[in-house]
Amino acid sequence: MTNNILQHFNIDQFQADLLHWYNVSKRDLPWRRERDPYKIWVSEIMLQQTKVDTVIPYFNRFMEKYPTVYELAKADQQEVLKAWEGLGYYSRARNLQNAVREVVSEYGGVVPSNRKELGGLKGVGPYTTGAILSIAYNQPEPAVDGNVMRVFSRLLKIEADIAMPRTKKLFEDYVRQVISTEDPSSFNQAIMDLGATICTPKSPTCLFCPVQDHCLAFSEGIQEELPIKTKAKKQKPIAYVALLIKNGKDEYVIEKRGENGLLANLWQFPMVPIEEIGMEHLETWVYSEYGIRIQLGERKGKLKHVFSHIIWQLEIFEAYTLQAETDDERVIFIDKEAIEKYPFPVSHQKMMKYL
Ligand code: SF4
Repeated sequence: MTNNILQHFNIDQFQADLLHWYNVSKRDLPWRRERDPYKIWVSEIMLQQTKVDTVIPYFNRFMEKYPTVYELAKADQQEVLKAWEGLGYYSRARNLQNAVREVVSEYGGVVPSNRKELGGLKGVGPYTTGAILSIAYNQPEPAVDGNVMRVFSRLLKIEADIAMPRTKKLFEDYVRQVISTEDPSSFNQAIMDLGATICTPKSPTCLFCPVQDHCLAFSEGIQEELPIKTKAKKQKPIAYVALLIKNGKDEYVIEKRGENGLLANLWQFPMVPIEEIGMEHLETWVYSEYGIRIQLGERKGKLKHVFSHIIWQLEIFEAYTLQAETDDERVIFIDKEAIEKYPFPVSHQKMMKYL
């Protein structure tokens, strides 16, 4: 089915134009300085949902701490989460460490170089597998994410809905047919760079595009109408009161989140699901939940944090303990300085200015 579109597409010239441009103007990124599959892997995981400029300092610090799979495999999970703090989507960090542990225990510390073993590791989906196999191992494997689908949907005028999971397969099929077998590593990185710098979501700069001559959407002037993407469902807002509870020794209550689910194993200030509980029952709820008696203080501010499926609407209040002893193992009392050693989600880091 995919061949019709490619019948009039000059694959050799397309590869030559793309690779020439890439060799002259590729971005200088720290993980590109060598072809270490572990480093490519970490960079690709960090780059999911996060911009390159944000990732670079995290990547450099991470590599100083964990330069090889061995250091990351034996690291304490809380420290890894601390190194990830601010990048969000923390399950990426937990999965990465679990998978790296498997690489050490099952594969002698060598990142697998085939789709089956690599794709079988925790958190390593088809995109990351393709990225590692092509970039580090120079195998002609597609690495298709939203950016790559955008670029190819325009280049080949593909009007399939990229929000549908099955569409990805279609794009992988096309990429397999047009990827350079001589230099698949540069090919995939060139497409990534093209999507990040020229063929951007809004207003692509087609006049500077190295593959403009090949682009079907450009030739018809419809580049801004592609890709086709149906809207995702709206995130559901959930209201919480977040409590900065202080005891008589100037220590604050922090709570470790559960082992599974959203923001697993990170720390936070206690959060009251206020719509269910109601403000008038807040102090009673805190006592029944944590065994700590409090008196509510001043309202300090509000914050919003958007996840992929929900939005936290946080009202931040001070509170004081009337009775602070508790045997709830999730919570600890800790002073302001020591708090910094614990990994917190971004929204709770922002609350620290009110301490
Ligand atoms: Fe994207 Fe424009 Fe280049 Fe086509 S010509 S690939 S739409 S930047």
